[in-house]
Amino acid sequence: MTKEKVIIIGSGPAGLTAGIYTARADFEPLIFEGMTPGGQLTGTTELENFPGFPDGVQGPEFMNRIRQQAQKFGAKTVIKTIDKVDFSNPKNLKLWAGDEEFSAEIVIIATGASARWLNLGKGEERFRGKGYSSCATCDGAFFRGKIVGVIGGGDTACEEADFLTKFAEKVYLIYRGPKEKMRASKPMLKRVFNNPKIEVILNENVTDLKGETFLEAVELTNSETREISELKLQGLFVAIGTIPNTKFLEGQIELDRGFVKVYGKTGTSVPSVFVAGDVSDPHYKQAIIAAGHGAMAALDAQEYLASLND
Ligand code: NDP
Repeated sequence: MTKEKVIIIGSGPAGLTAGIYTARADFEPLIFEGMTPGGQLTGTTELENFPGFPDGVQGPEFMNRIRQQAQKFGAKTVIKTIDKVDFSNPKNLKLWAGDEEFSAEIVIIATGASARWLNLGKGEERFRGKGYSSCATCDGAFFRGKIVGVIGGGDTACEEADFLTKFAEKVYLIYRGPKEKMRASKPMLKRVFNNPKIEVILNENVTDLKGETFLEAVELTNSETREISELKLQGLFVAIGTIPNTKFLEGQIELDRGFVKVYGKTGTSVPSVFVAGDVSDPHYKQAIIAAGHGAMAALDAQEYLASLND
């Protein structure tokens, strides 16, 4: 087993940008892409707010370009998931992808975050892939001419509702609070409220999923009156935020409410381990921020490596 100089876990904007920077510094980083190479952006449609793309760019295309750029400078990418680490010796970091063991002088964690599901405790999992989804871009086309719902009041929910109107006959956007509490940006809200195919349902929680094999309806419980009603639909998309992907780090590195705890700008509780992107960011969750953070982690890692040789 050869010891890598730099291992990067994650292949979203943070991981791949860290890859570009460490590759250009001749560290030949090994990037573990995980099972969703490209990360969350591969599940989005158009990225409209990344500088340099005045006409927008499709999420998967954007990620492909960053990957190619990292590879061009010598980054090695593998579609494997790191599921165990041993950071007890900061001078010899150990990582496993299944039974395969790897070691590195530096690790940059950029594993991002995953969709949050409702977790109603009523067996909602049985509808996954049968009407219940967390990715409109991936599954939207299955709902051509159907009635669907999207849960959430943030930018993701609004974007997904708008996107789904390309296929669905009608889209309900279901939010648990009043209109004034919706977190989505003004332009996004305008787009949703002006779309004749979208009906916004306010102050309602989805409290149960119903159907034989496929989803047929949801139970709604009013946030104020607790009144229960039923809404017929064939598809339901959750867009209620994300959970950081840190399960494999438990006990090895300090976490804060599930996110990697950041020391300084990109440091962690282990001196040779750095962090970047949504896995340490409960607030901004933006591609541009993650990419910038990835560059910072790479520069901090280089400085740390240089200090070892002083
Ligand atoms: P947010 O955290 O912004 O919003 C989550 C939404 O889900 C809120 O409306 C929240 O309601 C609701 N929610 C949370 N938990 C539950 C639950 N258990 N049941 C019902 N509803 C729930 O997440 P987003 O994914 O929308 O956005 C994350 C970040 O990414 C934001 O910064 C956003 O601006 C950004 N983004 C930007 C885009 C763009 O610019 N094109 C596109 C998509 C995302 P409540 O408010 O009541 O807590």
